[in-house]
Amino acid sequence: LFVGEVEFLKGVVAMDGLPPDDRVEVCFAGRSNVGKSSLINALTGRKGLARASNTPGRTQEINYFTLADSHFLVDLPGYGFANAPLAKVKEWQALLKQYLAGRVGLRRAFVLIDFRHGVKAVDEEIMSLLDGSAVTFQCVLTKADKVKAADRDRVLAQVREKLAKHPAAFPEIVTTSSETGDGIPTLRAIIAGLA
Ligand code: GDP
Repeated sequence: LFVGEVEFLKGVVAMDGLPPDDRVEVCFAGRSNVGKSSLINALTGRKGLARASNTPGRTQEINYFTLADSHFLVDLPGYGFANAPLAKVKEWQALLKQYLAGRVGLRRAFVLIDFRHGVKAVDEEIMSLLDGSAVTFQCVLTKADKVKAADRDRVLAQVREKLAKHPAAFPEIVTTSSETGDGIPTLRAIIAGLA
């Protein structure tokens, strides 16, 4: 599903740059370095499609990709840079809020969480924003190949506990590894199933 049917459409820095709201849309959010670019590349089967880790301070673009002729895949800028200037953070939050409120086609947000680290405060801020915008979100745990067996259940329990506090959270968690391909077909099927 969708493999090889992806094209980069455009990078958007303001609401008036968004493409027509005429497709099923999913977006991906996550802390910088969570593995978002790797996941998008694994999902679409295109190495180097999504570029890694935007540097803080740089213009943060919302990157639009088309999947076949039915979906938009949206790569939101990474958040949670340790030393990002506050003005940039505010700017990004404002754009994100407008984006989340303004897209009829947006069916689901995927919030990426590093399986080794669990949900952090900045992740919860995004989850609260999604609650406020009434955008259903699903948690995707990344780098499953790197989590120690002894940590798995503890992190999963922490994530479940956090999700329970967010009305917009979809209860099922997807665990993935871009390295081994674990969970990638599942995530593809979820996206393809959103109509
Ligand atoms: P982004 O900043 O969220 O786009 O993160 P990247 O996709 O650039 O990944 C950050 C780092 O984590 C890179 O060094 C990747 O090679 C590594 N990485 C990403 N996904 C995985 C994974 O599933 N397994 C492992 N072992 N490393 C990963």
